Amino acid sequence: MQQRKNDAPESHPWTVFAAEAEVRVLPGGDTQVLKRLKAGERVSGTLYRDSRTDEEWLVARLDGQHVYLQLCTLMRVHPGFAPVNGNLPIGAEFVNRWWGIPTTYEPNDLVALEAPYIIEDGKEYRLRAEAADAVKRMVDAAAGDEIILRVVSSYRSGEYQRGLFEKACRKDGAAQRYSARPGHSEHQLGTAVDICDLKQEHAFEHSFQDTKEGEWLTANAGRFGFRRSYTDANTEETGYISEPWHWRYWGKDITT
Ligand SMILES: [Zn+2]
Repeated sequence: MQQRKNDAPESHPWTVFAAEAEVRVLPGGDTQVLKRLKAGERVSGTLYRDSRTDEEWLVARLDGQHVYLQLCTLMRVHPGFAPVNGNLPIGAEFVNRWWGIPTTYEPNDLVALEAPYIIEDGKEYRLRAEAADAVKRMVDAAAGDEIILRVVSSYRSGEYQRGLFEKACRKDGAAQRYSARPGHSEHQLGTAVDICDLKQEHAFEHSFQDTKEGEWLTANAGRFGFRRSYTDANTEETGYISEPWHWRYWGKDITT
């Protein structure tokens, strides 16, 4: 039977993306390590959130025993992952905290965004062609309302995301809720952008929500096919903090 995207089986295996994953007798960084799984090894189980530490664990059964693996060492590809001519259909991609895409997936229609649409810092900013057109139209429309928007992050490869994720976990621990595991970031789709004000005074800050730029996006982004992924209202559902700067393109006009 074909699985719908939102009811993929819980038993679908996770893959170790870290150099190794510790298999522990109990959740917690100071508990006994029974063995270690290597990168690429797969393991199935159920999800468990330790309310004491807020860390997420996979509870698996190995050799007849319940064991725990920290979720920040694992990723999992959604069984509905099915690119067409190399690309996932826009608006139908399934990427969230618990389901992802292969870390090697890269759309083949990425194009570079240029000034005046980006923060000019010497970095390359790429998006899928349709999303790039849409963000340009959106930034132009905002400028018509005397609101200056700039893209400050766009497509990120799975490998680049791995570096960001590992850095975030080193800094803030495994329970951090702002950086996605490799394969689990909307930025890897090439359709998500982080947007800031011209002076970057509120870049990657919750305060961006209440700036005139943030308010313009809230009122208008839907007309251009963009929706804010992480709001104050859905943190429990998404597993991530509220991010008023992060907008994902879902294709054409999504207001109707
Ligand atoms: Zn983002």
